[in-house]
Amino acid sequence: AKGAGKGQWRRYQSDLHTAVLERLELRAALDQAVKEQQFVLQYQPIVDLETGSPLGFEALVRWNHPTRGMIAPGHFIEVAEESGLIVPMGRMVLQQALNTVGRWQRSSAPGALRYISVNVSVRQFRTPGFVEEVRQLLRASGVEPGTLLLEITESLLLRNDEQVKADFDALRAMGVRLAIDDFGTGYSSLSYLQHMPIDVLKIDKSFIDDMLESKQQRAVVTAIVTLAQTLDLAVVAEGVEESAQALALRDMGCPYGQGYLFAKPLSERDAFAMIPKAAPF
Ligand code: C2E
Ligand code: CA
Ligand code: CA
Ligand code: CA
Repeated sequence: AKGAGKGQWRRYQSDLHTAVLERLELRAALDQAVKEQQFVLQYQPIVDLETGSPLGFEALVRWNHPTRGMIAPGHFIEVAEESGLIVPMGRMVLQQALNTVGRWQRSSAPGALRYISVNVSVRQFRTPGFVEEVRQLLRASGVEPGTLLLEITESLLLRNDEQVKADFDALRAMGVRLAIDDFGTGYSSLSYLQHMPIDVLKIDKSFIDDMLESKQQRAVVTAIVTLAQTLDLAVVAEGVEESAQALALRDMGCPYGQGYLFAKPLSERDAFAMIPKAAPF
């Protein structure tokens, strides 16, 4: 009864204590990671569902911790976001991705790699000077702006923010393209699709997971594909793990897919090896 409640509270407090400590330690370690540039990128191909050939890659960050080894972003992105460390980390990610792609483009058939997709957090996007930074990193890497696709989430569009709209327009004017990541999971209305220069919708993995078993999930996927076609947007299905999913997607007119069926996120070297050595056209 009462005693148990008290014990529970103490346990709760000590769990909380541990959690807070862990977060502080994580934050300090992340701070160090930023200073020592401990982030590396892996590249996951995005393929043409008709031909299976990779058209581009999504850059995915990993923390190469000196003693704990490779750490997946699910363990640190949230703390990076809260602490603001996502801003310098995101800058390093963009720089690394562009420099790598610049090297790839100089040593593969022109046009064989259509794009590199880079995740940009809301906080990073909202940092003053972000667009200018993109411009400078593109220039320094020699990467054609049309090769860069920035993946943002709908949460950036929750408020009708004039600055965000202006930044989108500036990126578009530069030739950079924008994708909505995890499309379908946000709470925002779809009205932004009419006035924001969006190029690509990425259908969230959660819809793909159950699309073969659930009529409802399949209907959502079909609706997103139709929406994309109507608005003249490209659409990528995320988290494709089974060939039956890829076939169903292709049949409903979804042109692109990404997922373990095709490849897991790869090292820079393995990703480069996947780029077709002749241009697709
Ligand atoms: P996301 O942007 O939705 O990226 C897709 C995630 O799904 C990646 O996890 C990828 O490895 C995983 N994935 C791809 N295909 C499959 C599949 O077929 N099955 C399964 N089970 N998983 C698949 P990852 O690399 O752990 O990244 C997790 C999230 O961390 C990303 O989700 C993204 O939100 C965030 N993230 C990753 N890199 C960055 C970055 O450079 N900056 C920012 N701001 N966030 C990043
Ligand atoms: Ca993404
Ligand atoms: Ca996603
Ligand atoms: Ca996701």
